Amino acid sequence: MNHRRNNMRLDCPHCGAFARIRSSQTPSPLYREAVVECQSLECGWRGKIGLEFICTLTPSQKPSPEIRLPVSEVVRKNILGQLTLELPEAANARRTP
Ligand SMILES: [Zn+2]
Repeated sequence: MNHRRNNMRLDCPHCGAFARIRSSQTPSPLYREAVVECQSLECGWRGKIGLEFICTLTPSQKPSPEIRLPVSEVVRKNILGQLTLELPEAANARRTP
């Protein structure tokens, strides 16, 4: 069976050729590490990358109580903007005392 383990494309930082993710580790739910190999035979670079989950853009419908991720600044402002909007009935009620 041919599993495609990921679709993320990485370029070698030295020569710019395609670099393949060989193996990955999960030290914590919000941080991953992986060994990366440049696919250019003339280059041959190998290295390690770290991937960190940094914020929430759309909240999970199945949230884990252990995961504490800040909501992105843009999303936060959007939600706050919606919360301060008045209902049309409330605005009308105030105009006619
Ligand atoms: Zn390279």
